[in-house]
Amino acid sequence: MDINKVAKQHLEMDDFFTGGFSVKGNNAGQEQRGSNKAAADAAAELEKIAGEVHQCRKCDLGSLRTNAVPGEGNPNARIMFVGEGPGADEDAQGRPFVGRAGQLLDKVIAAMGLKRSDVFIANILKCRPPENRDPRPDEIISCLPYLQRQIELINPEIIVALGAHAARTLLNTNKSIGQLRGQFHEYYAGLGRPPVKLMPTYHTAYLLRNYSKENRQRVWEDMKKVLAELGLPIPKQAGK
Ligand code: URA
Repeated sequence: MDINKVAKQHLEMDDFFTGGFSVKGNNAGQEQRGSNKAAADAAAELEKIAGEVHQCRKCDLGSLRTNAVPGEGNPNARIMFVGEGPGADEDAQGRPFVGRAGQLLDKVIAAMGLKRSDVFIANILKCRPPENRDPRPDEIISCLPYLQRQIELINPEIIVALGAHAARTLLNTNKSIGQLRGQFHEYYAGLGRPPVKLMPTYHTAYLLRNYSKENRQRVWEDMKKVLAELGLPIPKQAGK
């Protein structure tokens, strides 16, 4: 790892996504959504799913993990972020997006005027693939029902799919992330349920590997569409 490059990226991250912007404690209108009882029921059911994930041995990854990473956040979230699968830091801590890609995701969320606790963050795979290799189709098939149940319970207004694996899996397509990002698609949560709007965007790990102003601007444009769709204010200073 090139330490100078990492240090420069940190400075640029601050400048691009959060430069001069202070988070105002906007709770993304969570108080408008559902009753306290419904939220408590969803939280309990999400805990139950997390318990199942921690016991899961449906694929080989179950015996390789240090910790399973079920996902975390607001059971009543209007926005769900979905990544690919845990990396080394997530595997060590049992929490999603806590490594470098996670720190950048935190900056993106802050730039949107939101807090991490406003949203729900999960992954397609709940256990880390060895050496962070791509998820295998059999692993996705085994693991996906956990995420599908989480989405059904949280019932977000928007899913942000981070990267090609999340977007392709949830949209059941082979298109590239370059083709998919920047516009809303529909995620079908089940028969009789209205589709959920899904915005694919670049994964923050990809952003770190391809750290150009253009790529950061593309992610910010995607997030502005998410905020506009939800009727939330678009912070001026971010993405300048
Ligand atoms: N990358 C992911 O896709 N998910 C995580 O939780 C962390 C990094």
